[in-house]
Amino acid sequence: MKKICFMGECMVELRPVEPQKLNQSFAGDVYNSAVYLTRCFAHVSAAMLTAVGSDRLSNEMVTRFKQDDLDTSYVFQHQTRSTGLYLIETDETGERSFTYWRSESAAKQIMSFITQAQIDSLSDLDQFVFSGISIAIIEAGDREAFWQFLNTLKSKGVQIVFDPNYRARLWKNESEAVINFDRAFELCDVTLAGVEDLTSLYGVHTSEEVLSLCQKHDIGEIIVKDGPSSVISWFDNECLEHAITPVTNVVDTTSAGDAFNGVYLGARLSGSTISDAISLAAKAAGIVIQHPGAIVPKGLVEKAIS
Ligand code: ADP
Repeated sequence: MKKICFMGECMVELRPVEPQKLNQSFAGDVYNSAVYLTRCFAHVSAAMLTAVGSDRLSNEMVTRFKQDDLDTSYVFQHQTRSTGLYLIETDETGERSFTYWRSESAAKQIMSFITQAQIDSLSDLDQFVFSGISIAIIEAGDREAFWQFLNTLKSKGVQIVFDPNYRARLWKNESEAVINFDRAFELCDVTLAGVEDLTSLYGVHTSEEVLSLCQKHDIGEIIVKDGPSSVISWFDNECLEHAITPVTNVVDTTSAGDAFNGVYLGARLSGSTISDAISLAAKAAGIVIQHPGAIVPKGLVEKAIS
């Protein structure tokens, strides 16, 4: 059985459904990817590496991970901190705004839970996935330990996958983000990059510019996403362009890239070619954006790609 682990933060999501009433769910970039991967590729074992609290909502989050068929062996429970939380609101024009309470979340201290025993047990993974958000939330003083941890996994033959999701408010400034993204690009074997995330940091505006930025770091497998525009891939010294069928009734683009990543990685771990994996991933993302929220009802994505 292929094994993959997603490292990052899952948060409590609150969304107004009617006056004085909030709907509560769970979401977070790498968590969303893990859910879509397990839904579509039950034969791949997917784990979450994160820290939550010991409070009621944290316990519910862990229960949800289990219901999602995720391996929770690397979900650690902090004694004093809790999960991050955000409120997502939509105004009359459909514009979304987010308010976060995550600066003291348990996940920021994830490195304090990683012992040699965990490193040994993670060394038999096929792939380890993290994002720009995963790096941003790690306490700055713990980042060096994080890079060492990744280097160790890589030296054991684990493929390192990086999605450079960029959230400006999580970084001190742009140069701090660039230094860390450069390190991630230098270390990873696979990158699943969105053009928009890299525009302000690197001044790149097109998929071709993102591709050449990633190629400078000698990354073996590069996938560049750009909303409804073609996806570009680079693998085995071959550059391919993959057409996307634009969705006309877009409801909510939250987690389009995450769903794409989960299905792409699941397909690749199941032996699909780059072109087939991108085709499945784009179908999945196309379904996700036609429904509200990060995680759409079970069955929809599975049916679309079957
Ligand atoms: P992110 O969520 O990381 O910003 P993108 O917006 O680039 O990611 O979208 C990721 C993938 O979702 C795209 O490569 C594409 O497959 C799909 N997608 C996004 N927007 C559309 C759209 N309007 N029509 C069809 N597919 C889309």
